[in-house]
Parts: sequence; structure tokens; C-alpha cells
Amino acid sequence: MSAKDRSGHAIVLGASIAGLLAARVLSESFEKVTIFDRDELPLNHDNRRGVPHGEHTHGLLAFGRKALEELFDGFAADITALGAVPVDLGRDLLWFGDGLRFPRTDARLMGLGVSRPMLEGYVRDRIRALSNVEIHDRTEALGLLTDDDRSRVTGARVLPRGGEALEVSADLVVDATGRGNRGPTWLSQIGYAKPVEDAVDSVAGYASREYRRVPGDADFSGFVLNPWPEHPTGAVAMAVDGDRWMVTLVGYDSRNFPPSDPDGFLEFVRRLPHPELYELLSRSEPLGPPIKMRLPVSVRRRYERMRRLPEGLISIGDAICAFNPAYGQGMTVAAAEALVLRECLAKGRAGLPRRFYAKTAKLIDVPWDMAVGADLRYGHVLGTRSAKTNLLNGYVARLFVAAAKHPSVAKAFLSVANLMAPPQSLFAPAVVARVLRAGARPQLPVAAKAPVRELEPVG
Ligand SMILES: Cc1cc2nc3c(=O)[nH]c(=O)nc-3n(C[C@H](O)[C@H](O)[C@H](O)COP(=O)(O)OP(=O)(O)OC[C@H]3O[C@@H](n4cnc5c(N)ncnc54)[C@H](O)[C@@H]3O)c2cc1C
Repeated sequence: MSAKDRSGHAIVLGASIAGLLAARVLSESFEKVTIFDRDELPLNHDNRRGVPHGEHTHGLLAFGRKALEELFDGFAADITALGAVPVDLGRDLLWFGDGLRFPRTDARLMGLGVSRPMLEGYVRDRIRALSNVEIHDRTEALGLLTDDDRSRVTGARVLPRGGEALEVSADLVVDATGRGNRGPTWLSQIGYAKPVEDAVDSVAGYASREYRRVPGDADFSGFVLNPWPEHPTGAVAMAVDGDRWMVTLVGYDSRNFPPSDPDGFLEFVRRLPHPELYELLSRSEPLGPPIKMRLPVSVRRRYERMRRLPEGLISIGDAICAFNPAYGQGMTVAAAEALVLRECLAKGRAGLPRRFYAKTAKLIDVPWDMAVGADLRYGHVLGTRSAKTNLLNGYVARLFVAAAKHPSVAKAFLSVANLMAPPQSLFAPAVVARVLRAGARPQLPVAAKAPVRELEPVG
């Protein structure tokens, strides 16, 4: 759409990944886009208070990388030049399914090892360069404005830090204020029901630490060993910008939370059933102390099921659905939702919320079912275990056995996890045949027993 065909004003609440990607799409059809965030946004690519999860390991899946390339020409080349690490998620990462190692295979699933602050900072710089987008930080969203019969949202009330509340009119308001957002409360304040929420608390604890990465220190760029019920601890490590390894340990059930003292952190890694990460970290230099986090509850807000929705308002990103990041899908889903928004806007603005939520619900089903399905395998996790969930979990457990033997099955699983193939592809005849013939689950190797040896953190 050319600049002269753009019309109206769109407001985005929240200038994190989902808000910035939404703003990119809105800038194509709205004359003006204004983004508000309550945080102070850095000029560089540093962590910030409003995004505490930025201190934990992030990676960008293959679909996320492809979507970002569609939204920002030259994305992968630029961010690689800034230090992000391009990876084929089948070839360059050590992946384990229920502890069984997948054979490394040229999967052509190209993702990125990139820290959360670097990715957000890069995207923010690209948005700042757009002439019809303004970013106002230190400005908190307080609620919504409506027309007289409350059928349409007409703007938002915002509060600049140290100033007075302002009413800002808009043709479209996008709520991208993340996991803990007040969207449902704002809706009830203007006379609408709150969306039904599906919530699952996996009772998972995380601890993360950065290490210096030096050329040749490992023959892999990432390590993904998710916990499973018989072994409720795991770890994820990614080679990222700044010549660093970002390492996040995870434990299910408070008895298994990873410790945040340096010795305990390394000991936790030593007890994993595979030695590669321990061998790497025990000879790597830590760049700071471990940082702890209790994983918040996974929440999916079912806007698509609401009987009444106002025009002129949508939610996006973690504000609709924030799930257990075991499969690292959150930013990729936010990027996919931005593309859905673009597609919906191409068909006009009438009925936008209903059309947008119908499509995003289908998109979210896959990552939500994967993450929540895996969580529900644990006895301590509360939630409804339908026959379908139990059947799928049983199938996936056998699929991991087959994936450990057959690169084609590993690739099929990784393609679904990367949102590059539909889940039905796991039931293709060639995959099912291998799953049925997978045989018994093999024994796991014994963990490294080398003594703990650690260098002092820098600074
Ligand atoms: C430990 C952990 C690891 C993860 N690992 C991965 C990974 O490897 N790969 C991946 O793709 N995803 C991962 N995720 C998920 C990913 O971080 C999120 O999906 C992603 O950040 C979603 O961003 P968002 O923009 O929706 O929300 P957020 O990043 O939470 O941003 C919300 C924004 O809204 C602002 N805000 C909040 N309230 C207001 C208000 N009232 N007014 C104005 N501004 C407001 C905040 O300041 C913030 O800037 C992980 C998450 C966690 C917790």
C-alpha cells in the first residue's frame, strides 16, 4: 500500500516483541501508529525491567526467522552481523526427546541463537526508522475509550510518567502488554464479559547463567534437553550474540528447582543424563551469577469464543496466550500473529477482531497443545487430561524412541515444533510405520562424573 492510501491512527500498547511486530504491520495501512510502553526503553540492546524473561535463554525457531525476514528485509543477515548465531535446528543443536538424543540431520530448519534484548533492540531500531511510527516509553496504558453505545473502542487512556493521564483517539487499539496484561479487566470496564481463560501451572523453576563462548569450544550451537516425568530436570543452552552461551536450567515441581548458587548450578548440570553441556560449562568462563525465575502460569485467553467483542480492539502475543517456553515458541507465535494481522487488514477493517481471533486460535492450538500436553504428563500439574491428550502423549513418547533412530522422524518432529509443518504430518504413513516399529525405549547413558571445576565470574 502506498503512503497516500494509508489512513487513520492505530495505537499499540506494549513495545516488546509482539507490539513492535504488530506496529510494523500496522504502519503499512495506517497513516500513523503510536506505541506506548510503561518501561524506559534503552537506546542500545540491553535488558530492561519490563521484560525480566530477557535474562533467560531465547532462540528463534525456523518459522519465526522466516516471518521476521518477511517483516524486515535483510533481517537474518543484519542480526547475524550483530553477532546472532544462525543455526540449522536439526544439524547444529543437540536435541533430546524424553532424554533420547536425536541424530543430527540436515533439516533445513534455519533458526537463530539470539538473546532476547538483541532481538527486541534490533526490531525496535527498525521500527524507530519508520516515518509514520512513534514510540512513547515511560507511558502506562490505563484503560480503553469507547463510542457512546460501546460497540467500538475509540482509543486508550495513558499516563506518561510524572505527567497527567491523556485520552488518545485511535481507529484501532492493539493490546500487546504481555502475559500479565489487564486486557480482560479493561474489557469488563467498558461493559464486556472477560474471555474464558485456560490456565495451567507447570510449577517449573528456571535458573540461567551466561558463559563466554570461544571458537571451537563445542561442536554444537545449542543443547535442548527438556525434562520428562521420570527425569523432571533439564537444560537449554544456546550460542548467542556477544560470544556468549546462554544456559537455562529447568526443574519441575519445587523439589527439583535449579539452584542459583554457582556450585549448585554446575552440579545440577552434572546430574543431567547427558554429559555434553557439563563438559562444556566446566571449562567455560561464567560471565555473571545465575539468575532464578519461577515460571508463571501458562494462560490462554479465548477471545475467539466471546459472544460480544468491540470493534477496534485486538490483543496479540503473550496477551492472548503465554505458554511454557519449553519449545521456545513465544516470539515465533507473535511473529506469526503479526502476519495474520497483515492478512486480515488486507481484507479491510470491518469485523477485524473476530476474523483475527478466529485465525490466531488455530495458529495457537499447535504450540499450546504441545506445551500444555507435555506439562500434563506430570502428576503434580493440575488440569484436565482428556483421552486425546493421553493418546497424543503416548504417541509422542513412542515417536521420540523412533526419532532417536531415524533422522526422518526427528526431522518430522522438529518441523512441527518449529511451526514449519502441521501436526498431522506426524501421522504420515512413513512416520507412523517407524513409530510402530520403534521397539522398547533404550537405556540412557550415565552422566559425566568428572569433578566440578569452575572459573570465577568476570566483573
Ligand atoms: C524463561 C522464558 C524463556 C523463553 N524462551 C523463549 C524462546 O526461546 N523463544 C521464544 O520464541 N520465546 C521464548 N519465550 C517467550 C517470549 O519471551 C514471549 O513469548 C515474548 O516475549 C512475547 O512478547 P510480548 O511482546 O507478547 O510480551 P512481553 O515481552 O511480556 O512484553 C510486554 C510489554 O508490555 C509492556 N507493558 C506491560 N503493561 C503495560 C501497560 N499497562 N502499559 C504500557 N506498557 C505495558 C511491558 O513493559 C513490555 O514491554 C520465553 C519466555 C520465558 C518466560
